[in-house]
Amino acid sequence: MLNSSQDINVQSQVGKTVILPRGDLIVNIDDQINYVNCSLTQEEGELNMIKLAQTSRYEEAYLFDKTNSCFSEIGYNCTNRSCQGNNFTSAINGINLISYHLHPKYCKLLDNSLTAMFEKWMDTVLKQFLTEKDILNLKERMLTLPSKNDLTYFRNLQEQENIQEFRIANPFGITNVVLKEGNIEGIVKLYDKAISDYVFSYDSNINLEQNIQNYIDNVNESMMDYLDITFISEKNIR
Ligand SMILES: [Zn+2]
Repeated sequence: MLNSSQDINVQSQVGKTVILPRGDLIVNIDDQINYVNCSLTQEEGELNMIKLAQTSRYEEAYLFDKTNSCFSEIGYNCTNRSCQGNNFTSAINGINLISYHLHPKYCKLLDNSLTAMFEKWMDTVLKQFLTEKDILNLKERMLTLPSKNDLTYFRNLQEQENIQEFRIANPFGITNVVLKEGNIEGIVKLYDKAISDYVFSYDSNINLEQNIQNYIDNVNESMMDYLDITFISEKNIR
């Protein structure tokens, strides 16, 4: 499925890398085809991805080649370069690449244990203190942080592909994640506790952006030996 008005003959391109001459990034769930776009700056691509995170139903992923300023869509369900089957990245040292993926608004929450906990709280405690809009904001705010699986995925990209830069496009902006040294299972365990500790802290007297920042700051402080997470809101990207 293409989320684009661009006229591409998909059937004839199976198994190939398709260079998009211009235009926006697309969401493509066919793992046989990889679309490469070299017509956007990094900032333009990031703004594209934020828009896609507001509309897409799929957790699409991209690699950005900093040297050539090209985005390669690496396919829905592809979690590493090995499933790409194209020549775009194989010749590029991972240190020149930034890994991006989408946390779409219309995807179910990324972490099942948090979802279950959230539903329970929403029915009981939260409704007494927050409006429906605040509850929705609180829920969607979770999209700004990496999931537990993301951390393991990032470690694999570091070790296998030498990729060191990780960014998540969400409906509100871009989250940059630095994953430091340490046993990944241990880090994930600590991270699970950190995100759970602060998930329900939400101040209805301040705006959503400030609430996002507070959540990330709190998690970041708990995880400072292992992670460095920064958030850039959509309006601060240009
Ligand atoms: Zn993710």
